Amino acid sequence: MPTTGKHEEWVTRDQAVLWHGFTQMAAFATSEPLVVERAEGRELVGVDGKRYFDAISSLWVTTLGHRHPDLDQALVNQIAKVAHSTMLGNSNTATIELAEALAQRVPVDGPHFLFASDGASAVEQALKIAFQYWVNLGVEGRHSYLALGDAYHGDTVGSLSLGAKGFGTEIFDPLRFPVVRTPGYADPRWLSKAVSAVREHAGGLAAVVFEPLVQGAAGMLVADPPDVARLVAEAKEAGLIVVADEVATGFGRTGELFASELCGIRPDIMCLGKGITGGYLPMSATVASATVYEAFLGEDLGPRTFYHGHSYGGNALASAVALAHLRVIDRDGVLENVRNRALELASLLSERFGSHEAVREVRSRGLMAGVELDPSLGGAPLGRRVCASAVRRGVLLRPLGDVVVLMPPLTTTSEELEHVVDVLADSLSEVLVQP
Ligand SMILES: *Cc1c(COP(=O)(O)O)cnc(C)c1O
Repeated sequence: MPTTGKHEEWVTRDQAVLWHGFTQMAAFATSEPLVVERAEGRELVGVDGKRYFDAISSLWVTTLGHRHPDLDQALVNQIAKVAHSTMLGNSNTATIELAEALAQRVPVDGPHFLFASDGASAVEQALKIAFQYWVNLGVEGRHSYLALGDAYHGDTVGSLSLGAKGFGTEIFDPLRFPVVRTPGYADPRWLSKAVSAVREHAGGLAAVVFEPLVQGAAGMLVADPPDVARLVAEAKEAGLIVVADEVATGFGRTGELFASELCGIRPDIMCLGKGITGGYLPMSATVASATVYEAFLGEDLGPRTFYHGHSYGGNALASAVALAHLRVIDRDGVLENVRNRALELASLLSERFGSHEAVREVRSRGLMAGVELDPSLGGAPLGRRVCASAVRRGVLLRPLGDVVVLMPPLTTTSEELEHVVDVLADSLSEVLVQP
């Protein structure tokens, strides 16, 4: 069967058997979905043969671009050894090598890695580890978590509970367990409110959980590094476990390998995901400090054991690709590219949209940017319509409500950034003249 064909045909076949996340399937076919057949570098190629610049890095996972020769080769080499073997009570050389390399790089003291497959699972593991840590120490009453407003930590019930409302998830409110919630980075007084809550609730909290530096899914809300450092210092002072969810910010997005490094913090637990394999394979990890890890050591089959594990955790193919990915980031100066391109992106966005009548605010940190539109101009759903227009112009964008997200791959060039920003400006103009 030929893999290319008419776009409509593929959409019909899709609709007959698939169910897409965060998508109203009754509207799927008429929303001009992109059906990808292959990719080259930073471009996706649709079944219509058209090329699309991947300006959202395939929902924030792609770092070096698609079909990177080193990552492709790492996958081929590993597949000749073994694709997967369980990490429950047993091990795999590829996973050990990856953990050794990551241990040199994560800002966590004496790190130990518990792998899973999705960001939400990494957060779920972190919540359960933080909870059981206190149980293992014989400390009672530390059952809750402090989480920020506008937070997003994934879609499983535990991670959803830590997350704030939004994206239509209110429907699950009866399933959410309560947390101590203080405002997110959009509130200029978020830090003092979080600090007060840490002091007030310390005895009942297992951990404080936050996205360091950028609340991504909230629409790229940004914090100042010293403020994040101050929250961590307060939490540590109160004896809490500090959980940094770096699923979105990790692996170079902010210009350092981890946003925690920019903030100068050393979390007790870190959650990694998205970019960990450069966007190749589903992998995530919960990183625990030696202090946390050692609280789980005890008798075999005893109650201190962490009774949790995912079937595909530590997958060997994903491990081999993730290791190659880490090496390429260093070898090719990828972080330096992020820092240079980030300055260009920030100035392009402020030039073009800083005083645009239909733009409320432009926010960015590293190669994570959000252009918040004013939906009172142009009519709802403005973000959706602007992105649809950009897709027709060959740039794949996807909004978060009224915020157009720009998350280009970390290897993006200056010319590509200019093109993306031009296309966004044209798309916005088009939508504004046809409300
Ligand atoms: C995307 C995201 C998650 C969830 O990751 P999944 O792989 O989609 O489950 C968790 N935390 C943050 C900060 C994220 O951006």
